[in-house]
Amino acid sequence: MGSWLTCKCGARLHRNLFAGTGMSLIATEAFLDTERVGASADDLVSELVREGERLLRCRPCGRIVLLQEGPIDQVRFYTPDD
Ligand SMILES: [Zn+2]
Repeated sequence: MGSWLTCKCGARLHRNLFAGTGMSLIATEAFLDTERVGASADDLVSELVREGERLLRCRPCGRIVLLQEGPIDQVRFYTPDD
């Protein structure tokens, strides 16, 4: 998998979480509700970084892009209403 993904508008979006891209990680309710006996806050953050869905914003077109990395990446695009 590369460090970039291509938005539907053609812009290239950096997908590296630590590249200063302003990306967000999504913590689902199921993720937050999972009991992790003995896990520290750092463990929780590490798990979220490894497994959490990433939310990117495409500046040129305003789309929100959700990326779930895996053997086959899942990418969904959402266009703002206005
Ligand atoms: Zn775009």
